[in-house]
Amino acid sequence: MADDCIFCKIAAGEVPSTKVYENEMAYAFEDLNPMMPVHTLVVPKKHYRNVADELPADELAALFEAVRAVAALKGVDESGFRIISNAGADAQQTVDHLHIHVLGGDP
Ligand code: 5GP
Ligand code: ZN
Repeated sequence: MADDCIFCKIAAGEVPSTKVYENEMAYAFEDLNPMMPVHTLVVPKKHYRNVADELPADELAALFEAVRAVAALKGVDESGFRIISNAGADAQQTVDHLHIHVLGGDP
């Protein structure tokens, strides 16, 4: 766990969150400030800064399995959804723990 990383603490259950889904390597929870009716964050349980970091294949597979599960659980797998992962300062990444926004629903 990275020191003082809020998403490490959320994934470890040390800071409360509204859990949507988890598997062995990934954890999904509701964004604190939803921008869309569906706005869930998917994070690896291990700390990576963003998608510019090199992730092992099993971590990537678990992350995208969780994205698919979230879309199905939130009921947007058929209607459609968007994923966004901000990486670095120019993308205005505000939490330096890799996260994928899953956005969907009628805006
Ligand atoms: P970024 O701008 O880094 O891509 O997105 C960070 C996201 O994390 C934002 O949408 C923000 O609302 C969300 N967020 C920041 N801190 C917390 C928190 O403590 N709990 C939850 N559930 N979401 C958070
Ligand atoms: Zn972290």
